[in-house]
Amino acid sequence: MVRGKIRSLSVRDVRFPTSREQHGSDAMHTDPDYSAAYVIIETDTADGLKGYGLTFTLGKGTEVVVCAIDALSTHVVGRDLKEIVSNFRGFYRQLTSDGQLRWIGPEKGVIHLATSAVLNAVWDLWAKQEGKPLWKLLVDMDPKQLVSCIDFRYITDALTEDEAYEILKNGKQGQKKREEQMLKQGYPAYTTSCAWLGYTDEHLSELCTKALKEGWTRFKVKVGADLSDDIRRCKLIREIIGPNNLMMLDANQRWDVQEAIEWVTKLAAFQPLWIEEPTSPDDILGHATISRALASLGIGVATGEQCHNKVMFKQFLQAKALQYLQIDSCRLGSVNENLSVMLMAKKFEIPVCPHAGGVGLCELVQHLILFDYICVSGSLENRMCEYVDHLHEHFKYPVVIKNAAYAVPQEPGYSTEMKEESVRQYQFPSGQVWKELNSEQQGKLG
Ligand SMILES: [Mg+2]
Repeated sequence: MVRGKIRSLSVRDVRFPTSREQHGSDAMHTDPDYSAAYVIIETDTADGLKGYGLTFTLGKGTEVVVCAIDALSTHVVGRDLKEIVSNFRGFYRQLTSDGQLRWIGPEKGVIHLATSAVLNAVWDLWAKQEGKPLWKLLVDMDPKQLVSCIDFRYITDALTEDEAYEILKNGKQGQKKREEQMLKQGYPAYTTSCAWLGYTDEHLSELCTKALKEGWTRFKVKVGADLSDDIRRCKLIREIIGPNNLMMLDANQRWDVQEAIEWVTKLAAFQPLWIEEPTSPDDILGHATISRALASLGIGVATGEQCHNKVMFKQFLQAKALQYLQIDSCRLGSVNENLSVMLMAKKFEIPVCPHAGGVGLCELVQHLILFDYICVSGSLENRMCEYVDHLHEHFKYPVVIKNAAYAVPQEPGYSTEMKEESVRQYQFPSGQVWKELNSEQQGKLG
């Protein structure tokens, strides 16, 4: 039973120094310190349950997201949880449509990352109170209630509420069987851990060989900094993984449209399944041009980790600008908005292959993709979820990978809770940075 009034919302700035060993390095983000704005909500109930939510950042700027979460907290503290979840669409609308705050969005950028962190905490608490992992809470939910969590404003030209309901109602067929199948075999994953851009060829070979032995069959390679390097690295990896395993490429927004087409054409010999984020994440028509140009080479376009919102995803789908849709659990407005995107993807018959990695993204998104398979897509064809082997040790319920698949999480909640000792150890004193900057500026002035 959902219960309690939200008594407090606190937020912490947690930063891990991943840049020291080039973990997470790509063509555009050469020194990321994987970080999170981490939200904790508490209620006035005696059960002691708390909701944990986060959004992912790359280090600097996390303090800005923390400020935005603070600004949104006025919509959360003092609210009854039951009232929130019984009109979740209304609550989503309230957070994203605050008459003053929406000016710094709407539904994009820092304020939307903040919305995601807050709503992730609410979903975590709801699932915990129901005593279910989040995926199971969603799977057991009536299609009418699921639809009532979604704000359809701006997407009804692509997906109406009635259509969404029909998809979910049809998804009930065979649901039990798919749930059992997932419990037995898990959801298929691919690894990005072997081929970050900053790794040497030796390191890369070592990691690929090890991953093959562990049973991985799908590998993603970071590209886009230097063409001759890319050719050498792709050749090396293709030789190690053989002709039948899958290889995906990720350029992290490095190129202009024409440059992307030319560059990827030169890598076509290595038979990549997709090129991810070839250009600006905002350039929908550019992605469509690239998609058309690469279709004859059998290479698809994948994107989504920096796609602002459901409206952009709608246009990507309408413009046939992507062939693999990568939802992100911490950029879109939590489960609510991701539900709308998964349903649109189903209607447009585009496979959802979630973005993960970072801090906690694997922990969260596994719940969404399980729901997608069990209740929406009903298919594993051309589908897999990203996996990156970093920072899981800081989570209370870390993801479990077995035979290159996500084992289904069993603990109640959204797997968002971090270990308190990790949060304490890596908490960033953001106030200090501002003071340092100020004194530096003052020094220059003096
Ligand atoms: Mg990527």
